[in-house]
Amino acid sequence: MNDKKYDIVIVGAGMVGSLLAALLKSSGLKILLLERAVVSAPEKSDAFEPRVSALTRASENLLRHVGAWSTIENLRSCAYTAMTVWDADGTGRVQFNARELGETHLGVLVENRVLQWALTQAAIHTDTPAGNISLRCPVHLTALERLPDAWQLTFADGEKLQAQLVVGADGAQSAVRQMSGIAVRETDYAQRAIVATVRTENPHQFTAWQRFMPSGPLAFLPLQTAEGDAHHCSIVWSQDEKEAQRLLALDDDAFARELGFAFEHTLGGVEWVDRRYSFPLRALHAESYVREGIALIGDAAHAIHPLAGQGVNLGLLDAAVLAEEIMRALARDISWSSESTLSRYSRRRRAHNMLILKSMTGLQKLFSSQQPALLLLRNMGMSFTQSFLPLKQEFARVAMGLAGDLPMTAKIP
Ligand SMILES: Cc1cc2nc3c(=O)[nH]c(=O)nc-3n(C[C@H](O)[C@H](O)[C@H](O)COP(=O)(O)OP(=O)(O)OC[C@H]3O[C@@H](n4cnc5c(N)ncnc54)[C@H](O)[C@@H]3O)c2cc1C
Repeated sequence: MNDKKYDIVIVGAGMVGSLLAALLKSSGLKILLLERAVVSAPEKSDAFEPRVSALTRASENLLRHVGAWSTIENLRSCAYTAMTVWDADGTGRVQFNARELGETHLGVLVENRVLQWALTQAAIHTDTPAGNISLRCPVHLTALERLPDAWQLTFADGEKLQAQLVVGADGAQSAVRQMSGIAVRETDYAQRAIVATVRTENPHQFTAWQRFMPSGPLAFLPLQTAEGDAHHCSIVWSQDEKEAQRLLALDDDAFARELGFAFEHTLGGVEWVDRRYSFPLRALHAESYVREGIALIGDAAHAIHPLAGQGVNLGLLDAAVLAEEIMRALARDISWSSESTLSRYSRRRRAHNMLILKSMTGLQKLFSSQQPALLLLRNMGMSFTQSFLPLKQEFARVAMGLAGDLPMTAKIP
């Protein structure tokens, strides 16, 4: 085959794009994974990265399936065995415990860079001399043009490539989505998430903590150093734009004091805060996930509020379902890039993602409201969930990503 012609070009070697490449390794298709940033190996001794993901059990199964899990375990990760969610305005409190649910753990915290590294390595490392997947970075895509039977991609250096299928895995500002003319619906929460690594006086007890305040949720997600120190957490603090700017402008000591207070000193005082970063919070949903020879996955198709830590987990399932549909078509000797194959992917994922998106917006509104009736409703709802085990088990299954139409690769490690 011409070295400028590919079966699939995946634009974006983030967590979601790299998983798709790794899942298609045995397809025999010629695949190019493109990334605009340099992908480099993390070290155990690196400082914690500010962006981390709370992976569900379904996502962990996917990562095990493609052989990325051992790289993650050899670098750094933190399994959490409990989750505590509570309402700042009332008595509502729900505690999930892995043992009570018959599980070893509820999920695993992994830094995004570690995930990306493990997945790109799983995709490109091969036992055969002529691997079918290659990674090219850094590259800058400047144009996407429809030819009669393929898409043509043009790069900043003038090089041109062709692909039968272009997958946009290039995040919320997806160039593939924009260049292929797929529209999006956007909701601006007018909020900003502050993220940082902190060290707390008391150990985090391998628990994911989240306090809902009218101003927005505050999460403390457990991290563990390679030496086993369990006093570090990654915080995600959602706040209105103005308040976020005030908090970002504080010096470290003042920020640590306010953070400890907002967290009700649940883990004692906040002893140390690393550099703070912030992200505007927007929900975004592509009006279509596919068009002729194009498929969108991950944040390119949908971006949601981080309050339930579902974003990357939804994206990994998109990748798994798209891979499953392509492999299914190949096995049946039908066109793997046809409209009907791509539409099957879209049908299996879009309605589910829409439901989660709407639920997150609903939860965000419910917990930011101070109307007495809603306050009562959410506190009663939390108390009921806490005391009624079958309902709690159902919530936990959703939180662990084990509910709904799962691809085989997410079920079997
Ligand atoms: C504050 C915050 C906290 C979050 N916490 C969680 C959490 O705990 N759990 C969770 O599940 N989700 C969380 N999320 C959401 C999660 O980070 C995203 O859903 C996830 O990063 C999406 O992965 P992706 O691979 O689709 O996109 P991205 O992570 O955005 O990756 C896209 C990749 O494409 C590359 N790229 C972009 N444009 C181009 C181009 N033109 N050419 C080539 N490459 C390109 C980028 O460099 C990047 O590597 C959080 C989000 C925020 C903002």
